[in-house]
Amino acid sequence: MQAKDKGNLDRRDFVTGSIAAVGMSALAVAEAGAAKAERAVETGASGSGTVYTGEVVQGRKVVSRLDVADLEPGKKHFLYFQGVQMPSGQYWYVSVVVAKGIRSGKRFTLTSGVHGDEMSSIRTVQTVVGQLDPTQMSGTVMAVLDIACPAVESMQRRWPNSGRGVGLIDMNREWPGDENGASATSRHAGLLFNRLLRPNSDLAIDFHTGTTGLETAAIIIGDRSLPDVKTMGNLYPVGQIWDDAVYPGVLHNAFVDVGIPCFTPEVGAGRILDEDMIALFVEGTLNVLKHYGVIGGPIGRTAADAGVVIGNGAFPIIATQGGLVEYLAKLDENVKAGQKIAVQRNMFGEVVAEYVSGVDGTMSAYRTDASSEPGNILAFIMFSRPNHPAWHGVHADTESSYPE
Ligand SMILES: [Zn+2]
Repeated sequence: MQAKDKGNLDRRDFVTGSIAAVGMSALAVAEAGAAKAERAVETGASGSGTVYTGEVVQGRKVVSRLDVADLEPGKKHFLYFQGVQMPSGQYWYVSVVVAKGIRSGKRFTLTSGVHGDEMSSIRTVQTVVGQLDPTQMSGTVMAVLDIACPAVESMQRRWPNSGRGVGLIDMNREWPGDENGASATSRHAGLLFNRLLRPNSDLAIDFHTGTTGLETAAIIIGDRSLPDVKTMGNLYPVGQIWDDAVYPGVLHNAFVDVGIPCFTPEVGAGRILDEDMIALFVEGTLNVLKHYGVIGGPIGRTAADAGVVIGNGAFPIIATQGGLVEYLAKLDENVKAGQKIAVQRNMFGEVVAEYVSGVDGTMSAYRTDASSEPGNILAFIMFSRPNHPAWHGVHADTESSYPE
């Protein structure tokens, strides 16, 4: 189907409009952009049908908007979503697989690659989709695999944005994005959210891992005051659940803000394919799809089977010195307040710092890069404070945030 796409025209208007506006005040241009952004949100939210660009890349049709209702049931569809333009004028294409069941049912969206160094998140989603048989399914599973394309290409957490030289932008602070935003990252997020993710999701799961140099335990992060988030999280055979919405601008909160329950699983360490961790999260995701009737079969192991610990805080241990850090507690180990967690030595081998837990809790993440300078996060200890609002004690937009 080749449809005229109002939103797509808006994007081109924005570009040509900016060229025509040379000589206008910067303010006027900015206002024009803001007006178009409003319209773009309106058209984006309406889910007004699939738009094929007419291009075929490596055998995959390219869409700039998708409505999974337009796809043939009982099949898997492999598509590219046209994201933001690169400095070369070419586009970033995001890999999309839609398993469209023969019967109607819940529409699930599984996302990965919002951070570019989180390979096990991509492999988890690939594995789940690989196990689906659309001829037996009720509902739809849409996998969106390499969301922050240039970050995935260079296997780094952040998107290399071309501004005054390359600036690195954490895409998981940009959602829901802005189709006419100031950075390519924001525009890419806006296009994806308005034209692909939001219109096709009843429920969503945004997969992550730890980050380069900082490994996490198998953990589920989400706001468990939302019944579906609580239900889905409990279906994963993981040792830890952190009951916290975490930061503004993360993808799972953008979904939640528009009424689509979503949370973030953390599939172990960054950069590697952690087969054991991937297996846990594949099992959990298949449990979720079974629970909501998308696929059949018995529920596998759950959080209860794994002896899950549920916390509402993440206590950070922050380096006060430079030097090599040796840990005295492992991931998933329970620790006590005052217990020594790590020792740091300078280049002479002398102990320059000892780090203790401030809480009774569970080792949730730790720095795997052996050296550290002052100010780096060395570890997070998940803990629980009854009748206390969630507290993570760290800044959302710095290196000190939990490596979600
Ligand atoms: Zn991440």
